[in-house]
Order: sequence, then structure tokens, then C-alpha cells
Amino acid sequence: VDSVGCSERVGAQVRAWKAEGCRVGFVPTMGFLHRGHTSLMDLARSHCDRLVVSIFVNPLQFDDVTDLERYPIAPAADAEKCRAHGTDLLYVPSNFYPEGFSTAVSVGGLTERLCGATRPGHFDGVTTVVARLFGVVSPDVAVFGEKDYQQLQVIRSMVRDLGLAIEVLPGPLVRDEDGLALSSRNTRLSVKDRRRSLSLHQALLAMAQAVDRDVESLIALGKSILDVDRLDYLEVVDADTLLPLKEVEGKARGLVAAYVGETRLIDNVAL
Ligand code: AMP
Repeated sequence: VDSVGCSERVGAQVRAWKAEGCRVGFVPTMGFLHRGHTSLMDLARSHCDRLVVSIFVNPLQFDDVTDLERYPIAPAADAEKCRAHGTDLLYVPSNFYPEGFSTAVSVGGLTERLCGATRPGHFDGVTTVVARLFGVVSPDVAVFGEKDYQQLQVIRSMVRDLGLAIEVLPGPLVRDEDGLALSSRNTRLSVKDRRRSLSLHQALLAMAQAVDRDVESLIALGKSILDVDRLDYLEVVDADTLLPLKEVEGKARGLVAAYVGETRLIDNVAL
């Protein structure tokens, strides 16, 4: 797989592919790739002729400096996984924000609640980086994981509002055998904390099995199962608007964010 740092070269390659009539797919990531990421590559591959994957740990979206400093990296293993999953071009930006970069992209509404309420500035960082990545790569189709369910909806909003000609495809959440949602941050968990982390999925599963109850008692049920150090939120929301529901009806989603030790974890399920 061809690894490119220069954004102009990426743009030129994509234009050449498009001139040949190829449909270009894109999977943006922050690296330390796992099966969640490679599943998105496989999905993108089945919707495009050429696949671009980016690896960039975007400082703008980190509201916590130690989280950024401790973010794991594995460049060689990542490149190998990209190759094995049909990536044609690996974009690892060297100087991503050009000198004088002063633009921010901000989606309102959807970003005010859930992770937006507990991680100030996070989604503005996400939409700004993704808007620039979309500008550099100009993909026809881009895949985002349902692991970051709110992020997926925020990106969809941005694409719709800005009239970008990019199809956004959701990729299903991939879990470890024991149910823990795969995340690059899982590597930071101690053995004991990893075991406690399973309670996020267990709480959501119990809620999914009790959807005939009202939302208040569903949340109480979930909270009784969670074994975490700090709960940011546990909510039942409309799957599209992300607004809280009183009853589970239509397309509903259970979403959780919590700290286990120093590590912030998120998870969600369809209800
Ligand atoms: P990240 O590297 O964490 O920024 O994630 C890059 C992309 O991979 C995002 O679209 C995530 O939603 C997606 N992703 C991360 N973990 C998973 C997972 N366990 N299952 C599915 N997609 C995932």
C-alpha cells in the first residue's frame, strides 16, 4: 500500500482515479487499527473501486491533553492491516493544518447533548478535521462506524447541510468475543478494569431485553449493572435525532459513556 503524507499528492491521485471512472471510497481513522476499523475498510471496498484510508490523530478533537499524549500508535502494523484489507492509498498527513489555518466547521443541535455536553469542543474538532479530509480526498463514499454513533449522525448532518456529494455509509459496531466494543483506547485498561468495562455492553443488553418497560426504569436497570468510576451519560434516544425518549418506540438507541479508571469508554445498541 502506498503511504502518502502530502495532501496535494493525495488529491492528484484521486483525480486521476476519477478520470479513469473509478468510484473512490474513504475511511478516516486515528490509527492503532483493530477489527472495527478493518470492517469499515471491507465495507467501503464493496462500494468503491479505489480505497483511501487516513491515519491522523487530530489534536483539535481532544478536549483532554493527557488523552492525546497517551493515544496509542502502531504505524507499521496499521499499514499492514490497510494493505490486507484492500487499501490503495494510505494517507498519513505530515502537515495537515496548513500555516494560517483558521477555519472551523461546527454542527449545531445534535452536538449539544451526550458526548457534546461532556467533551466541550470535541465535535467541532471532528467536523473540522473531517471537512478538511473530505476536501483533500473528495471521496464518493465515506464509511463511519456506529461505535461512535453520535459522530456518525453529526457527520451526516454536516454532509447534508453543506451539500457535499459524498455518500455516508454506517459500519456496524464490532466487539471483542466478550462483548467489549473494540476501541484503540482499550489497550490502556488494566486487567481488572477491562473486566469492569464489560458492564457497559451488559447494561445495554439488559436494557435491549426489557424494552417493554418505560425509559426511566430501563435506565435504572442499566445503571444497576454498570460498574464504572464515572458515568457521563446513559440514555435512550431517538436513533436519528438523538433526542431523549420517554417510551421505547420507533427507532430507539441506548447510548452510554463512562470512565473506567482513567479511560473513557462509549457503547451503544439498537433497542
Ligand atoms: P477512530 O480511529 O477511533 O477515530 O475511529 C475511526 C473510525 O472507526 C470511526 O468511524 C469509528 O466509528 C470506527 N470504529 C472505531 N471502533 C469501531 C468498532 N469497534 N466498530 C466499528 N467501527 C469502529
